[in-house]
Amino acid sequence: MIDVLIVGAGPTGTMLAAELQLHGVEVVVLEKRASATWRAGGLGLHVRSVEILDQRGLLDRFEAEATRFSVGGPLAAIPLPWPDDLETAHPYGLAIRQEKIERLLTDRALELGADLRRGVEVTGLDQDDDGVTVTLADGSSLRARYVVGADGGRSVVRAAVGVGFRGEPSTADTYLADVELTEDPTAVVAELRKTHLRFGVAPFEGGVSRVILPAATVSDGPQPTFEEFRDRLREFAGTDFGAHSPRGVSRFGTGDRLADAYRVGRVFLAGDAAHVHPPTGGQGLNLGLQDAVNLGWKLAAAVAGWAPEHLLDSYEAERRPVAEGVVVSCRAMVALLREDPQTAALRTLLTEVGQLPGVSAHLTGRIAATGVRYDLGSDDDRVGRRLPDVEVDSDRLYAHLHEGRGLLLDRTGLSVGAWSDRVDRLPDRSSMQHADRGSAPESLLLRPDGHVAWAGDDQRELEEHLARWFGA
Ligand SMILES: Cc1cc2nc3c(=O)[nH]c(=O)nc-3n(C[C@H](O)[C@H](O)[C@H](O)COP(=O)(O)OP(=O)(O)OC[C@H]3O[C@@H](n4cnc5c(N)ncnc54)[C@H](O)[C@@H]3O)c2cc1C
Repeated sequence: MIDVLIVGAGPTGTMLAAELQLHGVEVVVLEKRASATWRAGGLGLHVRSVEILDQRGLLDRFEAEATRFSVGGPLAAIPLPWPDDLETAHPYGLAIRQEKIERLLTDRALELGADLRRGVEVTGLDQDDDGVTVTLADGSSLRARYVVGADGGRSVVRAAVGVGFRGEPSTADTYLADVELTEDPTAVVAELRKTHLRFGVAPFEGGVSRVILPAATVSDGPQPTFEEFRDRLREFAGTDFGAHSPRGVSRFGTGDRLADAYRVGRVFLAGDAAHVHPPTGGQGLNLGLQDAVNLGWKLAAAVAGWAPEHLLDSYEAERRPVAEGVVVSCRAMVALLREDPQTAALRTLLTEVGQLPGVSAHLTGRIAATGVRYDLGSDDDRVGRRLPDVEVDSDRLYAHLHEGRGLLLDRTGLSVGAWSDRVDRLPDRSSMQHADRGSAPESLLLRPDGHVAWAGDDQRELEEHLARWFGA
């Protein structure tokens, strides 16, 4: 029996496969696309995703194919200043196209030993007490201890376990096309954007430009053809800029949906299978990566047999509220892009408010996911938040998180004792030596996802939290 079967080799599925492989879990990923293709989707990684890549030692390979951005706050055409108080060692995003992200994550999962099977479509599943039987389009089946549906917004896995997917319907649709242009669109775009903020043309490498274009109607049907997009472009802009050689054409709406549950028995949902929302603010792919990093070590613990009772359920308890928060941000951004004088006035006011201290950091932290705090039942504000990369005895903290294990950042002479097979101890001697200079230092227990599980200086308390997160 396969340990974990992942449906979908998008960013979420491949990141999760790599996370599970770190722990020696046997992973099979099924992907219906026969080969990796251009995807008119994500264009970048926000700060928390950049941090996660660094935590796993992957940042260099991503930076080699990306460019950094740290201009403007990403909030619905409101020119927020980039905050200088984001409390991160990585105060920038990475501009990198989705298929490059997928390729780099796929390479990583394969290097670690994942079994990726392309051209394999899942059509249904059935679970019992011992495992899950997954049915494939060719009529065959596979059996796994756990299944994760990372199969996108129209998830077959979600439908098979009968989980509802509710939210707001779209009230306005937008075409998105990655195409080559023979005419310079600059003047026409500048004129139209005075009144239509949902229209734009952004060139990127290889002579390809991304055109976003308000649709005339709302539709829940199949993805549009290039001809449909081009006709609408002519109607809207009076020209098609000589658009040709489409790499990808898609359509998205202002609507959003959240899965009623992220777990049904042995089946989990992650990424777009669990949440969809407009791409405004560029958060969807990032959210999926962060789901994967939250779920990976917990599922690995269950496979290894030491997961405490609550651990698998904590995935939904922690990640669903984060997706709810993203939906709130997206709805606000959609509203701020409305093309009426009242909304323009609101944008003007928010532009002013955005200059006040702390406002840009708060809003950017919301989009960049650095503001996420899981409710772990502690009054200590550090607990539940991710720890930024910090210097530890002239080394970097994140360099010690590459293996995806727990970590005790020990500033008070504590021990991980019998948990040393799951949790590393990193003494922070400089903090110990400087204890007399300010408030007493406290040790921090980090989970494999980099979030703080406990802060304190008491060995017995530490052991209670080690048992809570890493088993008895
Ligand atoms: C126009 C647009 C712009 C966007 N811009 C951004 C951005 O800038 N930043 C950002 O963070 N996000 C952005 N997003 C969102 C981002 O593209 C998605 O959130 C992301 O692709 C979700 O990743 P995923 O792995 O969860 O799902 P998907 O990428 O949808 O991957 C699911 C995979 O499952 C496979 N699959 C589906 N069904 C089956 C089946 N039955 N059997 C086997 N395989 C199956 C699919 O072929 C696919 O490869 C954008 C989206 C759009 C549409």
